[in-house]
Amino acid sequence: MKILVLNCGSSSVKFQVIETSVEMIQANADRTLARGAVEKIGLSDSRLSLDVPGRKTYQEISEILEHRTAVERVLRVLCHPEHGVIASTSEIEAVGHRVVHGGEKFASSVLVTPEVEAGIEECVVLAPLHNPHNLRGLHAAQQLLPNVPHVAVFDTAFHQSMPPRAFIYGLPYELYRRHGIRRYGFHGTSHRFVAIHTARLLGKPLEEVKIVTCHLGNGCSMAAVDRGHSVDTSMGFTPLEGLLMGTRAGDLDPAVLPWVMAMEELTLAQLNAMLNKHSGLYGVSGVSSDMREILDARAKGNARADLAFQIFCYRVRKYLGAYAAAMEGIDAVTFTGGIGENSPDVREACVGGLEFLGIELDTQANRTAPRGEGVLISRPGSRVAVAIIPTNEERVIARDTVRVLAGIMPSFAVPGNEAPR
Ligand code: AMP
Repeated sequence: MKILVLNCGSSSVKFQVIETSVEMIQANADRTLARGAVEKIGLSDSRLSLDVPGRKTYQEISEILEHRTAVERVLRVLCHPEHGVIASTSEIEAVGHRVVHGGEKFASSVLVTPEVEAGIEECVVLAPLHNPHNLRGLHAAQQLLPNVPHVAVFDTAFHQSMPPRAFIYGLPYELYRRHGIRRYGFHGTSHRFVAIHTARLLGKPLEEVKIVTCHLGNGCSMAAVDRGHSVDTSMGFTPLEGLLMGTRAGDLDPAVLPWVMAMEELTLAQLNAMLNKHSGLYGVSGVSSDMREILDARAKGNARADLAFQIFCYRVRKYLGAYAAAMEGIDAVTFTGGIGENSPDVREACVGGLEFLGIELDTQANRTAPRGEGVLISRPGSRVAVAIIPTNEERVIARDTVRVLAGIMPSFAVPGNEAPR
């Protein structure tokens, strides 16, 4: 069946049309028919782009003021006799929506019903920068494609298997009870996808392997995936916790925040901007949030770019050690995301020299790894495998849509892992 996958942000709608089915999932034979995006929604020069395998990128520039128009244009271009990939929207049999935050309500992907919509609405308070846009896209798609099922796939759901010792903060417990302040974790679709594909690459059942998945892109997070269950992850209440990211600070002493607010006379909005937009690789280096530019500047002798690189990789190593202890051993470490898939320097700085943990990187294989493929980059005898798996969150969304409709979508919740009320 042809599934439309929608990922709606504040000023963008990313989309893919994926052909998949229960049989195609089993054979890993599902395929992307088209992908694209509408960017700069709300401006007069919004851009719609469409990529179809084997064709040149098609682009349109026009004024698109809101998400409904954006989804309408997406459907129009998909049905375009020359540029499109379907004859009419009736070929779309279901829509899969990325929803960032499902709180504790959603431990699985679900068919959208009025109750589910209300649940996503309730989670807006937890993700005010994301869920409202996801909902906007959902409502637009429901209006434009009213006769097909819509499925919500949450970034947080995969991590609902974490035990309370991993998700409760050392704060007054009332804050958890009253406001749901706890660690949720994000990038769940990506961690799940790469864990499944790492197990396949190793030729072992997922239920038998302990994997540390490293999603290193503009946003970065790691997860400890213990025999298919996420038991810990580096992002927390928001995507700000954990690793150093493009523009996000990651872990820091919370006492820094009131101190900086007072000393720099910052408002809350300015503090938020500092932590989310002016920190990370960009904040430390003063060069860029883009790892390619950090690597270039470092190669030219820029000391702060080098420091940003060092902090970035050192934190990955620290979490790797922590997760090896948390899971009492590991069988594989997997890299994914724009940086994880493409930077041999980063991978080597993250896992080089960890022979004592059983990790033996094949430095040659690391340097020559083909792009866009799942490959092993550890030495043949390495006790712990090191892998690169290109992530594909849209494919997970399409596959979950099929699973939900077929009634075979598992819940990630682990009975007994609820926190005391
Ligand atoms: P993502 O958010 O997954 O698209 O990843 C974006 C990040 O991947 C940016 O920091 C890019 O600089 C980085 N990236 C993409 N290609 C490369 C590359 N060849 N080497 C290093 N970093 C890369």
